Amino acid sequence: SVRSSGAFAQGILDDSVTTSVENVEARVDSLLNEMTLEEKVGQMTQLTLSMVSKDPHQDNPSAIREHELSPEKLRNVVVEHHVGSILNVTGQAFSVGHWAEVIRQVQRTAMEETRLGIPILYGIDAVHGANYTREAVLFPQNQGLAATWNPALAQETAAITARDVRASGIPWNFAPVLDMGREPRWPRLYETFSEDAHLTNVMGLGMLRGYQGTDVSNASRVAGTLKHFVGYSVPESGLDRTPARISDIEMREHQLKPFRKAIDAGAKSIMINSGEVNGVPAHASSYLLQDVLREELGFEGVAVSDWLDVKKLVNVHHVADNEREATKMAVMAGMDMSMVPTDLSFYDHLVSLVRDGEVPESRINEAVRRILRLKFQTGLFEEPLRGLEQAEQVGSTRDRRVSLQAARESVTLLRNRETDQGTPLLPLSDTQDVLVTGPTAHSMQSMHNGWSYTWQGGGAAQKMFPEERPTLMEAVRERVGTDGMTYVPGATLTDPEQVDEAVAAAREADVAVVALGEGAYAETPGNLNDMALPPAQRTLLHRVADTGTPVALVLIQGRPRLLNDTADLPDAVLTAYNPGPEGGQALMEVMYGAVNPSGHLPYTYPRSSVGMRTYDRKYSENQDRQGGMSGFDPLFSFGHGLSYTRFDYSDLTVSRDSMTTGALQNGGQVEVEVTVTNAGERRGQDVAQLYLSDLVASVTPSVKELTRFAKIDLAPGERTRLSFSLRTDDFSFIGRDGEPVVEPGTFRVAVHNLSTSVDLVGDRFLTEGPNRSPEE
Ligand code: BGC
Repeated sequence: SVRSSGAFAQGILDDSVTTSVENVEARVDSLLNEMTLEEKVGQMTQLTLSMVSKDPHQDNPSAIREHELSPEKLRNVVVEHHVGSILNVTGQAFSVGHWAEVIRQVQRTAMEETRLGIPILYGIDAVHGANYTREAVLFPQNQGLAATWNPALAQETAAITARDVRASGIPWNFAPVLDMGREPRWPRLYETFSEDAHLTNVMGLGMLRGYQGTDVSNASRVAGTLKHFVGYSVPESGLDRTPARISDIEMREHQLKPFRKAIDAGAKSIMINSGEVNGVPAHASSYLLQDVLREELGFEGVAVSDWLDVKKLVNVHHVADNEREATKMAVMAGMDMSMVPTDLSFYDHLVSLVRDGEVPESRINEAVRRILRLKFQTGLFEEPLRGLEQAEQVGSTRDRRVSLQAARESVTLLRNRETDQGTPLLPLSDTQDVLVTGPTAHSMQSMHNGWSYTWQGGGAAQKMFPEERPTLMEAVRERVGTDGMTYVPGATLTDPEQVDEAVAAAREADVAVVALGEGAYAETPGNLNDMALPPAQRTLLHRVADTGTPVALVLIQGRPRLLNDTADLPDAVLTAYNPGPEGGQALMEVMYGAVNPSGHLPYTYPRSSVGMRTYDRKYSENQDRQGGMSGFDPLFSFGHGLSYTRFDYSDLTVSRDSMTTGALQNGGQVEVEVTVTNAGERRGQDVAQLYLSDLVASVTPSVKELTRFAKIDLAPGERTRLSFSLRTDDFSFIGRDGEPVVEPGTFRVAVHNLSTSVDLVGDRFLTEGPNRSPEE
């Protein structure tokens, strides 16, 4: 029998059942044959635990009560309406034990009280650690992880997350975000890795491997969700969930690349973009959900909607007159599961649409097949609570060390000028009297940002931030003692607070640490009116700098807020992105030289609101206001990051400076080598970045594109010879007809301050299949 009710009661793995592909397919088929239409449509429906209609995405301390499970509610949803999936939303984080209880009830109801005993696919947003599990260690947000340029470290944080989520009884994670971070105003920028496609690919793959491992039935792995497919992150207005306009070329050069990579690597599900692209909501776009996702990218997993998005086709996007029409539109476009938290209207409409012949049952079967397959693959039928025994490992000292390591490697030193003493301001010495001021100096919320114990990481989250971990101010005080440090808030995020006191203290101090940035926010509530840091913060920086005391500016924020006229005032600038619970410690260690900084910017830090362009811009974007070509002038460049030691780059060579396109097409490669020497006095890590520029092309080329990178660790005086192989796809671009093509011509190869070139001679050729780059 396909029914596996015994497994729940015994909580054991039936040895005779394996999750081999053939076996899974046979079991899916046989189950599908037994299912009624209602049972099938229920599988495509995802609800929150509570059936309340109020938006539970709120920092409401009493929300937890509303999410307590009532057996009647659960039975109504799971038994009467055959609902197959439930999602996380809770007003605040649960303890790992409470999660286990909740999920146990859910699975018991589904597996013992329904006719077919199909387990529930429970999903959660564990985006930087198991951020809805109370004891779990959180990590830097994706943007900070990307600044480490260390995919192995990102993978480790994801593996810990996966284990913690499974320990809470949950097999499905709504992560990683693979949206490209090319619009700095967008309030979810901190959830993205980078503006660059290659860095996003590499980091995204690291995260996906950490979540899924090689087998998602494993007790410490979860199914990942690539989100949000596709184009969500580049709204023209910079505001969340507003229209994006993306050309076919841009779509394939940037937006789709990380998704393609992760799909090739076996990602189990995708979440659909809540916004519209080129005038069509993604949820209604069969072009995006079928032609691109299924045909072009070959995706076979589950496509789940985003929050309430079937309803939004009616009341937000105005492409459907009513919800029944919207349901048909989304299902026929290719949505397999609807995230409809407030009611069962999706279920009711879809059942009736099939009965009336408006949606073919074959489409339902296709979606349900994908969902059941995922339930088998995650091992739910054999052991729905697999992984709970790992509860004791949640929050371990080892996890904290990984989080600290990630925070240390993310901290990025952007500027370090010499002071009157003739040495760079940083690292500080313990004997200097230090003023610490600014709204992010003593704020766990700024370090964590959204998705931290609560959706917005504010309010109720406050009570859950790990008390024993220091803010930046506390970490400095711990190091130099209360006599050596003065702390004055100086400003809240938006208002002045004791500015005069901060100025007076700065006059007395040897150095002032001014910590500015943002608080916590998630999604639409994080929309901005102005990209500049609020006036109160800039005034604080101005007035402290005016004292003449050297200033180290520390930025803790989810996007590169403009500093405007204060940008040149600080002698040193550090950014920590949203580093998580270990950020205070990590920043202090870098400031005092216990850790040599090695982070590198995963984005371009703009100087002004008209200068918000990505580094891989087009040549014409170099234009200044007078029409000269020196106009691209960011405050700090993509990939920039200083160290307390010095790295010298020398002997950049290419294995051949000329090659036929035919040789390249037949697998020929160009080996690039470069020597890096630690020419300074302390051990340090650097990121060697290789950029390729196609000097002339039939589609305007980018000025340069990151093509390879390597993170290196060298002792003083040590040197290493790095080598990178460049292949077909590195030389190709999306041509005018939308196909990847290689054209003859000169390519500049640049590493650090060195460059050389390779000439391709012969005929242009289309690269085979979609634009695949080599294994990263
Ligand atoms: C977000 C998704 C998230 C979902 C479930 C939505 O509002 O856009 O990223 O996975 O909520 O919490």
